[in-house]
Amino acid sequence: MASLLLRGARALLGTEFSLSGPLDVAIADGRIQAIGPAGSLPDAPLVIPLERRLLAPGMVNGHIHSHEHFQRGRHENQPLELWMHNVRPVRPVPLTPRDAYLRTMIGAIECLRSGATTVVDDLTLGAAIDRPLLDAVFQAYEDAGVRALVGFAMMDRAVIDNFPYVDECADAAMLARLRALPRPSPDAFHGLVRELARSRHPQSNRVGVLVSCSAPQRCTEGFLRSSRALADELDLPVITHVQETRMQVVTGQSFYGRTMVEHLHALGFLKEKTTLIHAVWLNPREIGLLAAAGATAQHNPWSNLMLGSGVAPVRELLRAGVNVGMGTDGMASTVTANMLTSVGSAAALSKLRGDDGDWLNAREAFSIATAGGARAFGFGDRLGRIAVGAIADLCAWRLDTIGFTPLADPVRQLVYGERGAGLDLVLVDGEPVLRDGRFVRFDESGLLAEICAAAERLAPEFELAEASVGDIHRVMRAVLARCEAQPVARDTFSARL
Ligand SMILES: [Zn+2]
Repeated sequence: MASLLLRGARALLGTEFSLSGPLDVAIADGRIQAIGPAGSLPDAPLVIPLERRLLAPGMVNGHIHSHEHFQRGRHENQPLELWMHNVRPVRPVPLTPRDAYLRTMIGAIECLRSGATTVVDDLTLGAAIDRPLLDAVFQAYEDAGVRALVGFAMMDRAVIDNFPYVDECADAAMLARLRALPRPSPDAFHGLVRELARSRHPQSNRVGVLVSCSAPQRCTEGFLRSSRALADELDLPVITHVQETRMQVVTGQSFYGRTMVEHLHALGFLKEKTTLIHAVWLNPREIGLLAAAGATAQHNPWSNLMLGSGVAPVRELLRAGVNVGMGTDGMASTVTANMLTSVGSAAALSKLRGDDGDWLNAREAFSIATAGGARAFGFGDRLGRIAVGAIADLCAWRLDTIGFTPLADPVRQLVYGERGAGLDLVLVDGEPVLRDGRFVRFDESGLLAEICAAAERLAPEFELAEASVGDIHRVMRAVLARCEAQPVARDTFSARL
């Protein structure tokens, strides 16, 4: 027996997102149980009328960094290699568990308000694993009602050793100081993931854990191999940042004599349910390796724009048969975790490459943001679509709002025009999380006020943390100049104009 009946919505059905006439959708045990013409399905204990609403699958925001949420809007116009030190500062910002809870809610709220029902949080833990703080992060996702997968940006190399030429660009005293900064041990990271996987496996828990190796240049070969083995043993998805910038291609050549994608291939790291975040600077051979391995390339177009990283070769990836997912990335670079900004950017930006036969259309971009993300994180075709048997992670958009008026093509109008104002209803696992535009499980305005108060109290600490970056920026500029002078493979897809 259905627990919830959605009555009278027009829906984007299946993988083509074809617009239906008014329908009834019955939901039982968190799944879509039945779909029929409006008025044809029996009432359930809860009936939500959705006339003049567009029912769409919730999107999968495959990439946020919740440790950045308090730094939203603090930076602009810094390339990745300079910018990133602001969010991994030498002097960390001390947070209470409540601060971490509020920080996590910033992203959960914005993701949900833009139609993302799943978020993948690559959380940096800092100098040590602070268990009360970590528990607060998980509790926030539990309370928000969003589907969440959390990884811990694991690395076993000092941050300063993630870059080539540092021995020539920084003095010995500075290198010694930076190399001595504390970080969790490989065993501590793996022990944490192993323990959490017992009670938070994402296949059976709405808020789950995954394996995140921050990036190959941040991990030793041994740590990449043991993290891969851990993910295989626990059957967890894997994420890692790969070739976001040209400098990272040069870094692979400098460290390993091969690109990072080739390095991961050689280590046996590339598999299904393994997501290469960004994958902007690729050549055709690397795309072939991803296709053969069944790995996912994750597109973060708005982040790649904001950090000047470039435009990923999405059409080439799709043509090769690579699964492509999508994310927003962290708010300290992107300012926003609005998934509609990413999906709109993806479709619009694609028109900078090739001719009109190469451009992404709105449906392709929306498919990447829904079904692509579902496949990337091990949900196969059970998530990211409206079909009988699929997980009921759904959004209803008001068709009587200006963005859909007049209505010609709802997918185009959602992708290129809507940014969240018309969101009326969000279901996750068939449970209403947002109804009539208001959150069901928490007091949003009260939380926003508490977030503002916490941010005001923490602002001096962020000033000090960001001031601690100064010397590193000087070194990074020198490293960037050295890398810029190094060639990359001539057939690397040009990512920048
Ligand atoms: Zn990232």
